[in-house]
Formats: sequence, C-alpha cells, structure tokens
Amino acid sequence: MASKQYKQLGCLDVDASAGCAFQVRAETETEVLQLGAMHAKQCHQMESLSPEMTAKVKAAIKTVTVNV
Ligand SMILES: [Zn+2]
Repeated sequence: MASKQYKQLGCLDVDASAGCAFQVRAETETEVLQLGAMHAKQCHQMESLSPEMTAKVKAAIKTVTVNV
C-alpha cells in the first residue's frame, strides 16, 4: 500500500458563513486553485478571485495524505 499527498480545499474552510459543503482535491496547489475559482464562479457568482480571495483560498488549502 502506498500513500499519496493531495492538496485539499473546502469551501467551508474559506468562508464558513457561505454554508457550502464543496470540497476539492487535486495533486497540485495550482490545480486546486483553478477548480476553486471555477466553483466560485459557478456557485458563488464570483467572476474572478480577487487577490485577497486568492490569499484566503491559498491559506485554506490543506495537504492530506491518502492511502492508495
Ligand atoms: Zn462553495
């Protein structure tokens, strides 16, 4: 059994008041950011992430280890 590290981002980790349970997991931070931005656009009517939002999202990204 091997373990793999993923970057994980949860909407609740960025803004708990949004009450959104969206979670995304990817291999790189860049990928997670892209998926997060896409979700923000589709579900939270955010056309693009502001620098403050990007910083907030980056701070909320966690590294998780998954057994594969
Ligand atoms: Zn959300």
